[in-house]
Amino acid sequence: MPETPLKGWSYSPDVPVQVSPFFQWPLRPLDMLKWVWHSWFLISEKLLIVGLAFISFYWFQPPLEQTKSLAFDWIGLMYARNLVLMTLVAGGLHLFFYAFTKQGKELRYDARPLLKKGRQFTLGAQVRDNMFWTLASGVTIWTAYEVLMFWAMANGYAPMLTWAANPVWFVALFFLVPVWESFYFYWIHRFLHIPFLYKHVHALHHRNVNVGPWSGLSMHPVEHVIYLGTVLIHWVVAAHPVHILFHLQYYTLSAATTHCGFEGLVVKDQNRLNLGTFHHQMHHRYFECNYGSLEIPWDKLFGSFHDGTSASHERIQKRRLGKMGD
Ligand SMILES: [Zn+2]
Ligand SMILES: [Zn+2]
Repeated sequence: MPETPLKGWSYSPDVPVQVSPFFQWPLRPLDMLKWVWHSWFLISEKLLIVGLAFISFYWFQPPLEQTKSLAFDWIGLMYARNLVLMTLVAGGLHLFFYAFTKQGKELRYDARPLLKKGRQFTLGAQVRDNMFWTLASGVTIWTAYEVLMFWAMANGYAPMLTWAANPVWFVALFFLVPVWESFYFYWIHRFLHIPFLYKHVHALHHRNVNVGPWSGLSMHPVEHVIYLGTVLIHWVVAAHPVHILFHLQYYTLSAATTHCGFEGLVVKDQNRLNLGTFHHQMHHRYFECNYGSLEIPWDKLFGSFHDGTSASHERIQKRRLGKMGD
């Protein structure tokens, strides 16, 4: 019997929302293959970002010899590159979906407009607020982490991996970054929901009840430091510079796509490129659910998974009321 979807959404995907078939028993090898195929191949956002990382590395990245000592010229170049990348992705999606409404309401989760006014927003409106925090704080801290990692690699403080020495691990790392994201993001996100941190830090991201592309990386600077701190794992796990670029571009640029408010890009009546994620969209509206992503089902494990069905909704509401009664 098909599940009844939730009320109050302009569009919602087939529910229940499915988590990755890895980490489930019994093993379903076919579903696993399908998961990897759908999340990586055809045209996928992950594959596009791998492409961007290579383009950045070959054409827009100062060589390691230069990053040995800190200097304004090469740091400025990286900062400019990241500003352009973020503006192209978040700005491009915003223009396409919101300014020119090229896709109308098709595959749009929440058809209410982004807020043109609101006292909670820096600069008085949602998009301006989101752009400000993304560009002023997000891109700056993203670049700072890149600078730190390239400086550390150039000086031999962080371990380096090369294609020649270990091609298998070189390729595997691209697949592992999104799995690591699912692990890391869940835990820091739960941490950010501790009342003190929520109030002073994470609330800034949650000004957005309905989200757009610029909302993804719109965070308090302290949250940027924690969120993008993911890349520090490469002080322990050896990587090539292109993995460093991919790792941070994946965290920053896919924040814009997952928050874009649309399930995907429709070309000739079909969704050709997955973008938004309904489970995170629900986190922004319902709040105490779906802290993680779908690659590792932490939320399922800890009872906070909202799969988009009415049954799930009731359970989450009850859980919330139960907590308030404590
Ligand atoms: Zn949150
Ligand atoms: Zn969010």
